[in-house]
Amino acid sequence: MTVIPLPLWQPALLGTALPDGRVRCELCPHECVLAPGESGRCAVRRNDGGVLRTAAGSPAVAHLDAIERKPFYHAWPGRKVLTVAGPGCSFRCNYCLNYRLSQFGRDPAVPWTGSAAEPAAIVARADRERAAIGLSYSEPSLAVELTLELADRAAPHDLPILWKSNGFLTAAGADLVAPVLAAVNIDVKAATDAAHRRLTGAPLGPVLDTVRRLRAAGVWVEISTPLIPGISDRESDLRAIAGRLAEIDQTMPWHLLRFTPEYRMLRQDPTAPESLRRAREIGREAGLRFVYVERALGPEGRNTRCPGCDRELIARGLWETLSVTLAGGACPHCRASIPGRW
Ligand code: SF4
Repeated sequence: MTVIPLPLWQPALLGTALPDGRVRCELCPHECVLAPGESGRCAVRRNDGGVLRTAAGSPAVAHLDAIERKPFYHAWPGRKVLTVAGPGCSFRCNYCLNYRLSQFGRDPAVPWTGSAAEPAAIVARADRERAAIGLSYSEPSLAVELTLELADRAAPHDLPILWKSNGFLTAAGADLVAPVLAAVNIDVKAATDAAHRRLTGAPLGPVLDTVRRLRAAGVWVEISTPLIPGISDRESDLRAIAGRLAEIDQTMPWHLLRFTPEYRMLRQDPTAPESLRRAREIGREAGLRFVYVERALGPEGRNTRCPGCDRELIARGLWETLSVTLAGGACPHCRASIPGRW
């Protein structure tokens, strides 16, 4: 007989018990109100007899990869990241690369594959490798409890905690993790609430609020935007996204991601290199100083040039940093500051 593993449901933060036995979850702006036994829209938080519990503290993945792969281009170049990923997501994106993790509980084809995290072992492994600790692939904000525990254990070893996130958090959720997050890469997938809802099932506004809130708290923030042909690669949309990012900070790195057909969008074309090139121009026209294309444009899409004197300062391969020419976080030639965590 095959034994199918079941999730371990652990106590969750940011749940308010209501007098009638329901619980309101205040982690993400869906703010689900859950009757006993009911799970939220993310499918990994539920009301167990009046107590909010989470299944997101059980990673299905723990492996080392390059920080450039998250992607982070202005944070600890060349460092390895021990990446863990539990199940669940607060979004439903039909093109999700990692739907076998993110769509647990919603898509019957997605099995449970996680097992309870061992934070001490994760931190010990990261320390041996001198790696940062990253939560990625699925939605890390759902694993806020695990993030806090890892951060507590990692602090004495000086290991930064990183997220690759959709940024869909309440103010209370963002404030809970801001003190322990060193850096986050947040997806900004669309230009308007309506377009963002069509792509993800959720509005855009709270994502931009999280960008502002985490930055104000001192967390290093980079942005990613996937370009889906015919859906999120129109020039007017990209101009609007770039404009909104530039209003926040023109020096915030913007990563333009090539879409590849996945999950329920297998018939969609991949992003053409020319679209990525044009999107990069749009970003620069909006005033963004650091606009990157990981793939499709070769080294010119990945390398960092000084916004002051245009000399090349950081050279990158596909998933690695090849050389860094900075002096105290600044260009050694013209002394222009290059923001980041160096
Ligand atoms: S994290 Fe969001 S989607 Fe999940 S239960 Fe809480 S409010 Fe609902």
